[in-house]
Amino acid sequence: MIVTCPTCSCRYSVQSDAIGRGKLVRCAMCGAIWQQSAYDESIERKQRVLDLIKWTFFWFIVFVTIFSLFFAKNAVMQFWPHASDFYEFVGAQNESKGAFAVQNMSNFFVVKDDTLYMGLKGELVNTSNEVRTIPSITISLRDEEGTEKTSRYRKMWTHNLTYKKLLPNQKIVFETELQSVPRNNLICDIKLDVL
Ligand SMILES: [Zn+2]
Repeated sequence: MIVTCPTCSCRYSVQSDAIGRGKLVRCAMCGAIWQQSAYDESIERKQRVLDLIKWTFFWFIVFVTIFSLFFAKNAVMQFWPHASDFYEFVGAQNESKGAFAVQNMSNFFVVKDDTLYMGLKGELVNTSNEVRTIPSITISLRDEEGTEKTSRYRKMWTHNLTYKKLLPNQKIVFETELQSVPRNNLICDIKLDVL
């Protein structure tokens, strides 16, 4: 058994028989004297069982946490969208390509300070069943011959962290105004760049 000095914490390995039912002992290091009680094997056994239960519980919690992180990731990301950064980092998040659709595109014209602007409005929808990082949107206009008519409009979305992620089926409205465009026969190209 191990006997520990209550004064200087010095530890001694002693035969259990030497202590018997209890004995007055003296520390060789500091000279402290105390009544050492008998060695109780059941206490040590209880401690071992307790340790085993503690570690089993610990690993159970670790396992459940990891399991739920990966198998309930959509629920986790709905609760905390930034978790998708973590999933992307560990490779558990699929590629975002093809996960978005642009719908309800419409255009309108406005005159501001004697300049004609064409406005474009549409909705970007997350059509997947996972939380996705919003892609940047590039809109370019061309006429029927294919000649480009405007400089490209590009929206990166990074300025607005609230809209950095889209939940499944969630949509956002995007809107832009392009200067000095002809009114007729325009073809609108929309390109989504998944970051
Ligand atoms: Zn001592």
